[in-house]
Amino acid sequence: MQYQSTRDKSISVSAAEAIKTGLSAEGGLFVPESFPSVSLDEIEALAKKSYTERAYFVLSKFLTDFTEDELNHCITSAYTKEKFETDAIAPVYKLNDRAYVLELWHGPTCAFKDMALQILPHLLTTSMKKTNEDKEIVILVATSGDTGKAALEGFKDVNGTRIIVFYPDNGVSEIQKLQMVTQEGNNVSVAAVRGNFDDAQSGVKKIFTDVAYKELLARNQFKLSSANSINWGRLVPQIVYYFSAYADLLNNGEINVGEEINVVVPTGNFGNILAAYYAKKMGLPVKKFICASNENNVLTEFINTGIYNKNRDFHTTISPSMDILISSNLERFLYDLTDRDDKTIADLMNKLNTSGVYEISADVKAKLQALFCAGCSDDKETMAAIKEYADKYDYVIDTHTAVAMSVYDKYVAETGDVTKTIIASTASPFKFNQSVLIALGGHNEVVGKDEFTLLEELSKKSGMNIPKSLGELKNKSRIFDLVCDKDQMQEVVSDFLMVE
Ligand SMILES: *Cc1c(COP(=O)(O)O)cnc(C)c1O
Repeated sequence: MQYQSTRDKSISVSAAEAIKTGLSAEGGLFVPESFPSVSLDEIEALAKKSYTERAYFVLSKFLTDFTEDELNHCITSAYTKEKFETDAIAPVYKLNDRAYVLELWHGPTCAFKDMALQILPHLLTTSMKKTNEDKEIVILVATSGDTGKAALEGFKDVNGTRIIVFYPDNGVSEIQKLQMVTQEGNNVSVAAVRGNFDDAQSGVKKIFTDVAYKELLARNQFKLSSANSINWGRLVPQIVYYFSAYADLLNNGEINVGEEINVVVPTGNFGNILAAYYAKKMGLPVKKFICASNENNVLTEFINTGIYNKNRDFHTTISPSMDILISSNLERFLYDLTDRDDKTIADLMNKLNTSGVYEISADVKAKLQALFCAGCSDDKETMAAIKEYADKYDYVIDTHTAVAMSVYDKYVAETGDVTKTIIASTASPFKFNQSVLIALGGHNEVVGKDEFTLLEELSKKSGMNIPKSLGELKNKSRIFDLVCDKDQMQEVVSDFLMVE
């Protein structure tokens, strides 16, 4: 299977090349040139299989240049019981007769980014080998919280890689900071940048685009790379868990083979929901995709009107991983909806870049709306959803999942659609303990309490165990105390790699 670019489909590369490169040279994203199809018999057969077997089934259809051994090595290194604290890896929790929660947060950092970032380092190192790249990969990440830690956990101690994460000094939560500064591993480094997320991000971009610096690193056998969500190696592992969830529902007798389900996803960069759409293209029976946003509701407006407009106020919300105004993976979806019209996509993305606005044609909009619904939930509604689900089902959800629940409830109220539905749950409530505790019992629940007291309180209230990786933070020593200015970031990289 070859991959083409969304902005120039004459470009054709292998999976290994697509994963190694990340982004196509003219700015487009790599997409498979066709979608493998899966029969209902094959889907039925997945019911009796383990998560790693299901992963092999899906990934082998896309990464056709990987050998069976290579792919199995990647999969079994990533999805282990030690790392995910459950054999199921991505278990499905039944809320009631029509709503099922797909828990994607059992990985080492308690957020769904682990589902892709646990396997990406292995896909990347294998891709490097396959394309005869002999340099060591250096992953640079600027993070607003979740991605940095998930990338650190994924890349730690992976041979042939180093990773450096920069986070804004005053821009991440206390627990996120603790997660990063206590990071173990012999190939990792973490630094705080004086400034906000944009400062950290533009600093990383500057290092990436410095040609002389790139040459210096190459002379020292290093090659810079990124782990961001447009890499095909991050998207393809996300297709697996939609098949897995469907297989679980079959296994438990909740649905019949071929029965269509709905899927609700709390969305930011459009990666997670796009993976669900790709699963449907392969043959997974899905009727509707429900795209849930927080107050940064640029996607809600887009799906309802066909106009994408990023020129709007940015809102800082209690679901920060969805505080996004440019959903980069939407480009892949539009490429598909326009029947692979690379000229149109290049034109739309150029408009987004220059004016911040674009509009799709009436027939593309009709195709979009036949499959997708969208809604948004503000912080107040999100808090109310946390409380309501805890009271009604004795099930505590995090702030991102609560956006999805709130939007789903509105959808059912408006449409009366009682199709069985999978709701993607993207973070453990413990990761956003402060907001969750306030939702459950008001501000008095949190005043004057430190992070570890909050974890214990939430454990008592929810009846859930504190995730091991968060509980252990209390006894970990702080390894990284480096704080640098924005213009010192390159020096930090050089010191870590010992190049000059
Ligand atoms: C990244 C993230 C999202 C958004 O996922 P996309 O693939 O960017 O749409 C939602 N919830 C949580 C907790 C996340 O970390």
